[in-house]
Amino acid sequence: MRREYRSKRYRVNYKNIVIAIISVLAIVFAGIKVTGWIFKKDSTVYLEKKYGNQKIEKINKGKIVYLTTPNKKLNEILLENANKVKDKIKENRLYDCSSALYFNTIAQVNCSLKEGNNVLEYSKLAFNITSNETLTFDKIFRDNTRRVTDVVKNLSEVDKNVINIDDTHITLGNDDKNVKIVIKDNVHLFKTGNGLPTLFQNKQITPRQFTYEKGKKIVALTFDDGPLNAVHGKIRDLLNQHNIPGTFYVIGNLVERNPDEVLKTYQSGHTIANHSYTHPGLFNKNLTNIGDANVKIEYDKTDDAIFKVIGKDATTTRPPGGFVNKKVAALTNQKQVMWSVDSLDWKNRNADAVYNAVKQNIHNYSVVLFHDLYESTYEALKRLIPELKQEGYTFVGIDTFLELCKEVKNGYCNIADRY
Ligand SMILES: [Zn+2]
Repeated sequence: MRREYRSKRYRVNYKNIVIAIISVLAIVFAGIKVTGWIFKKDSTVYLEKKYGNQKIEKINKGKIVYLTTPNKKLNEILLENANKVKDKIKENRLYDCSSALYFNTIAQVNCSLKEGNNVLEYSKLAFNITSNETLTFDKIFRDNTRRVTDVVKNLSEVDKNVINIDDTHITLGNDDKNVKIVIKDNVHLFKTGNGLPTLFQNKQITPRQFTYEKGKKIVALTFDDGPLNAVHGKIRDLLNQHNIPGTFYVIGNLVERNPDEVLKTYQSGHTIANHSYTHPGLFNKNLTNIGDANVKIEYDKTDDAIFKVIGKDATTTRPPGGFVNKKVAALTNQKQVMWSVDSLDWKNRNADAVYNAVKQNIHNYSVVLFHDLYESTYEALKRLIPELKQEGYTFVGIDTFLELCKEVKNGYCNIADRY
């Protein structure tokens, strides 16, 4: 009895030991998991929203985490990056990647190479799964470092190639030194079509395309100071009827007041360009004497107004009154465009006078200055356009004009950045 009892006790104890060992193992294992989790959360690469799957592989006593996402192109990039780091894997080293999807469009992938707890290398990649492209600073920020610099302090001190996007912020730079940009407050900075919530709401506009006839004389019709009144639309419709493009140097605050007109004009295939926000150029005030900060406001607010309506930045500026110098021009990325034929429509307000001024001065590679403000300008154009066509002119927008000028080196072409 006693012996039996004893042996029974032994058996029970043996069982306890097994349970204890299993428990210890479980605690140790869980501990590794928990510390691993804590470590991961604090590390460079941890992203909470998962996009894709991780597969761990052991290499040279170290580990490499391969990430596979639902996007084929992104996977190619990730595999290429992982293969590049492969040679560096050795004992106690881990290459780890995690990913997340934001706005249903931007896959953010962050990777790091660690030795123990030390991060040796890291990379951050924002990828647009709709357009299948890696997002660069220029692709996100309307190709305009200057504009972002005005809003984001210390931008020059951070690595702009390291981009981290999440639901609320775009962070530029690495973990030690970075700037955070609140998306909601800075939507005007972001280019459309990259999936971010922009002012433009990702609406795609495909404007009509005009072609010109090679070998013919070249003319660009340009219209300043609108869209203020019904003449803007009348001139646009006239150009449309004749199947020719025009260029409209618009005033920013009028764009804000008449966005529908600007959109219609852009959709019709005409060029929308920058003519300042308030049109300083009268009463001794012009872009050359209002101070750098005010010039920037004039340029940038107009760019923003145009971008908001057509989803595209203007490519050229016409300084009001033609007042510009090198210093002023350096405050924008855009070409400063003048004219070679002045219709003097603002002065004469008479259709015959406008007609004559253009007819007497027009030449091959003309940029003709009009204002889409006066009925008399519209009346003059009704006569001018068919006649110029008959005289062998073909009509181009200002960007095409500047392109053609690069090729021909015609003396009259010298209308851009002429100061
Ligand atoms: Zn003007």
